[in-house]
Amino acid sequence: MQFISRRHAVKHLAVLGTATALSPGLLACAKSEDKKLGIALVGLGNYATIQLAPALQKTTYCELRGIVTGTPEKATKWQKEYGIQPVHTYDYSTFDRLRDDPAIDIVYIVLPNFMHAEYTIRALEMGKHVICEKPMGMNVEECRAMIAAAKKANRLLQIGYRLFYEPHHLELMRWAQQPHEGRIKLMETSLGFDMARPGLWRIDPKMGGGGALMDLGPYTIQAARRAAGQNPISVRAQGFLDDPDIYKGIYGTYTWQLRFPDDALCNTTASFSAYVDRYHVAKGHHFMELKPAFSANSKMVLRDWDGERSLPCAEFQQATQMDAFARNILDGAPVVASGEEGLIDMQIIGAIKQSIETGREVEIKY
Ligand code: NDP
Repeated sequence: MQFISRRHAVKHLAVLGTATALSPGLLACAKSEDKKLGIALVGLGNYATIQLAPALQKTTYCELRGIVTGTPEKATKWQKEYGIQPVHTYDYSTFDRLRDDPAIDIVYIVLPNFMHAEYTIRALEMGKHVICEKPMGMNVEECRAMIAAAKKANRLLQIGYRLFYEPHHLELMRWAQQPHEGRIKLMETSLGFDMARPGLWRIDPKMGGGGALMDLGPYTIQAARRAAGQNPISVRAQGFLDDPDIYKGIYGTYTWQLRFPDDALCNTTASFSAYVDRYHVAKGHHFMELKPAFSANSKMVLRDWDGERSLPCAEFQQATQMDAFARNILDGAPVVASGEEGLIDMQIIGAIKQSIETGREVEIKY
């Protein structure tokens, strides 16, 4: 286990008989058990504003206590709206002062993809637990460095995989892995939006890392891996330049086929040019399907060969995700949406890129 729980930390402290045995960061986390864990959001863009901050108003074990922003007007607005104290308000030049802010237990990185690894590692080195948004990093090397930093700092790292805790996804996964209706033969996991526009960091290869493949691919890859209950062994992929005036150095639409060890196949589209949002798993005649499947703010409907239904679920998927992480910290339990999960997805994304470049089916190396 890579993390010492707060209860353990306090016990260690007593055994050692000295407060100097703990780093300031660990002391920051060693507060009374009944308090909520303080979160600082880093990067107050769309996702932080529309989803994470409202979700934090619904959490049981977390509290929005800090912000890091490069935009002073946002700082003023958020301080008013969420009662955030100026002392817990940072910009990118004062980010490292979070080290000495005991109110912040968890730093949540909601920055453009190219900044994920750097800010995650800096926060871990300050002794904070970290949630980092997907995609975990820009490549496999960055993901490995982030996992190593968490281990070295003895802190927990979660990737913002909100669907790991979503009831419809969990139900589909449960059904997919039941043996009695046969094994999975075919999956389709696709996500796309008409969202490309000039100047968007997501379509800049240096900032986004690969357009829709990096932005939307992680949801679809996760869904396939979780339904199959195993990792794919090879991939064949294609890139389509559907709007050459907008896309430079990336494709607008990516498609790929993942092959699993028992010959199950998953066909996927990830696109910045057109809308699609579905998750279909079939075992011969029997199937289960979610449509919409991945958007955070759409009402999910689960269909199978017998009809359709919606399951009770939280107003914000992210509230469940953040509470799960807080519980992991408080209980010293392993993280489900872990850095290791993010690394596997990045290994698959790397193989997809390689397959497009070579025009061949590529074996996925883990
Ligand atoms: P936005 O572009 O809306 O916000 C990014 C924010 O990062 C900016 O508003 C800005 O905040 C800050 N920032 C700092 N440096 C830069 C820079 N050089 N260029 C642009 N922004 C900068 O992006 P999103 O909020 O949509 O996405 C942020 C992250 O969250 C991405 O990694 C994305 O993949 C992930 N995401 C995850 C979702 C999920 O379902 N799990 C859904 C949507 C996004 P400030 O002004 O405060 O400094």
